[in-house]
Amino acid sequence: MTSENTPVSELGLPELTTWLRRCTELVDENAPYLTDLDAAIGDADHGANMQRGFDAVAGILDADYEDVQALMKKVGMTLVSSVGGASGPLYGTFFLRFATSAKGADALDLHALFAALQAGVHGIEERGKSMIGQKTMLDAWVPALDAYQRAGETLQGAVLAGAAGAQEGRDATGPMEATKGRASYLGERSVGHIDPGAASTALLWEALADVVRPGGPTPDGEAGADGETRADGEAAS
Ligand code: ADP
Ligand code: MG
Repeated sequence: MTSENTPVSELGLPELTTWLRRCTELVDENAPYLTDLDAAIGDADHGANMQRGFDAVAGILDADYEDVQALMKKVGMTLVSSVGGASGPLYGTFFLRFATSAKGADALDLHALFAALQAGVHGIEERGKSMIGQKTMLDAWVPALDAYQRAGETLQGAVLAGAAGAQEGRDATGPMEATKGRASYLGERSVGHIDPGAASTALLWEALADVVRPGGPTPDGEAGADGETRADGEAAS
């Protein structure tokens, strides 16, 4: 990892591994919240689905990976094979496409990270036959990418803007009527509830923001609840 005061300018295997570990932590902490959201307009399993998926991802992070593509491909395959709900193949496809975009790279800079994230989001759109405005995770992903691109001068600035965009997108799903996914069965009754997948997407962005923030992710007590100690700034070599 970089030293505390140097802004992260690219994400290599250590930083991406830290991102994925942080995703697992945030998903674990927020699983009841995700399940509550899904209870309102779905089948109350989104927290459990995400937890199963990211716990499985945490289990593959200690292996050695040749490059960014190899790691992200393994993450995508792990999510596809471990999550039963719609979100598994969708997030899995995101990471598989991210991997393909990162082919040959040892680290992703501002532009390469955008390309990889965008390829991932296009993968979700294709796999889900969905688009922005249908009250799905895409309503967090697309505003996040837009904000990243608008902000983009430094990797740190772009990622922090992207995370804020994801939160705004998540919140904007509240008044929408779902026209894709399980929530669409409710029609108008889906209005007034935040989409669970948009909420989990905002968590993945929050995790990424934690990686680029000065000093990196801070273990916050709950983070190490499984007894695994993580040296601050020294995660994953
Ligand atoms: P399931 O709907 O099978 O129970 P989850 O509860 O894990 O799966 O995930 C639900 C989330 O998946 C939704 O909140 C939505 O964000 C996302 N989702 C479902 N279908 C689609 C789709 N076709 N395109 C994009 N996102 C989708
Ligand atoms: Mg569900």
